[in-house]
Amino acid sequence: MATGKINVSVENIFPLIKKFLYSDHEIFLRELISNATDATLKLKHLSSLGEANVHYGNPVIEVKVNKENNTLHVIDQGIGMTKEEVEKYINEVAFSGAEEFLNKYKDSAKDSGIIGHFGLGFYSAFMVANKVEIITKSHKDEPAAHWICEGTTEFTLEDADKKEHGTEIILHINDEDKEFLEENRIQELLVKYNKFMPIPIKFGTKEETLPLPEDAKEDAKPETETVDNIINNPNPAWTKQPTDLEEKDYNEFYRELYPMQFEEPLFHIHLNVDYPFNLTGILYFPRMTSDMNIQKDKIQLYQNQVFVTDNVEGIVPEFLTMLRGVIDSPDIPLNVSRSYLQADGAVKKISSYITRKVADKLKSLFNNNREDFEKKWNDIKIVIEYGMLSEDKFFEKAEKFALYPTTEGDYYTFEELEENIKENQTDKDGNMVVLYASNENEQHSYIEAAKDKGYKVLLLDSPIVSHLLQKLETSKEKISFVRVDSDHVDNLIKKNDEKISKLSDEEKEKLKTDFEKVIPSEKYTIQMEAMDSNAAPLIITQPEFMRRMKEMQQTGGGGMFGMGNMPEM
Ligand code: ADP
Ligand code: MG
Repeated sequence: MATGKINVSVENIFPLIKKFLYSDHEIFLRELISNATDATLKLKHLSSLGEANVHYGNPVIEVKVNKENNTLHVIDQGIGMTKEEVEKYINEVAFSGAEEFLNKYKDSAKDSGIIGHFGLGFYSAFMVANKVEIITKSHKDEPAAHWICEGTTEFTLEDADKKEHGTEIILHINDEDKEFLEENRIQELLVKYNKFMPIPIKFGTKEETLPLPEDAKEDAKPETETVDNIINNPNPAWTKQPTDLEEKDYNEFYRELYPMQFEEPLFHIHLNVDYPFNLTGILYFPRMTSDMNIQKDKIQLYQNQVFVTDNVEGIVPEFLTMLRGVIDSPDIPLNVSRSYLQADGAVKKISSYITRKVADKLKSLFNNNREDFEKKWNDIKIVIEYGMLSEDKFFEKAEKFALYPTTEGDYYTFEELEENIKENQTDKDGNMVVLYASNENEQHSYIEAAKDKGYKVLLLDSPIVSHLLQKLETSKEKISFVRVDSDHVDNLIKKNDEKISKLSDEEKEKLKTDFEKVIPSEKYTIQMEAMDSNAAPLIITQPEFMRRMKEMQQTGGGGMFGMGNMPEM
């Protein structure tokens, strides 16, 4: 038997990294800007400790395209590297200088916002470039260095004459990746990934219109000024303290996130926790409009202000994926499959934290301004009802504020509902019977008939409420929900048994037999008592079990908003 050691050499790993490390080639820019940001934040940190050899100032990161030379440049004014550091940090693939820095400055730097940690990001440059150069000067008093590599394991490293501290990365873009020399494409990428990164990022210049002086003539043309095109907002709302923000700041930030969204959000939830995991963010309940774009305007996931994805499946509970906003957490493992993610302990905690915060916010809105909460109910009910169905923890909390509107325009909580109907609406087994309608127009005559008998009728028209009612029926004792147009209504013990029909008994009998001739009796029941109603001379009902069967067939298996199947009940 022979044993041995498999020899993993950089030679055979390197092409793999280039090809497969990231399926998405465009992220190379995010990685380089993350490194430039880290380099700047490190200098800021050293400067705060009095360990920097240069003045920190107001650094920016600049991105430039040179179409003539087919190059893309990322230039920072950060910490820079000495020749030895290039050897160490760049030539040793998978050695992370970011991680080393964080270890060295453990306590003081844990909130510095430094992004890197795998020591692989830099090499993503070779996904789009056949040659990469680094020209870098450390903040330490040492000569600058120039590193050149053509995508093999060979490189050159020599002195350079760069005077200012910081680093310039030069990518010689591949022929087949020329899109990354187009300004529009780069602008698009910068906006997608770097819109909220903490150091200002400059990409070219733009013309800005100056305000007209107060005494300007009516036909005066406003003057323009050429200014830096800064593509990011380095201090997005979610990084601030809730106490420093007003309602209008939250609304403005919503617009920043979703520039094409003109409806204001209904309300927001500011997330902010640093133990046992780190997470900040702002979630918004959107107004449900027919033109809302659930596919496009989604919750965005960031890590240290770098955009990662807008697929938050597995991180945010499914019923909250209809919300909008931002979640920023360095503690979410990303280079793993979604199913692994769902099993991850930290992620589970994050998910239940978010659920709890949303429930608490709804509770406080309900407590503080019930009237307003009722007004918003129509827009938020689907999220709440879906949450009650799919998350037991949420169900427990939501029971206190979930509302059941009546056809009269009142809104009851479950408790109030019990108070209001228990006395008056029971069947012979003593079950409380809650009548409900799902379509006010179609079921109008039934609603009127029930009201005439002194019953309250709920108006529940959301697409999933029938599932919720089943859940309530099974989790509560002695309660049943009955559709107002089903024959169960007859089984209620009526408070007021007085007949007000103008027809004699013979006339009623005749009417009934006439109808029975044309209506199949195995499918429908003719309800004579309905003639008590002023609104309806006669009511034909469908047995409850038939109706449920039909409804099951219609809704069975179908998901909601493409969010997968309904939870099992
Ligand atoms: P990570 O960022 O995960 O540490 P990278 O492969 O992206 O790994 O970068 C490797 C290391 O190279 C960094 O940790 C850093 O020490 C160094 N580096 C990369 N880019 C720069 C830069 N612009 N300025 C200074 N150092 C840099
Ligand atoms: Mg990096």
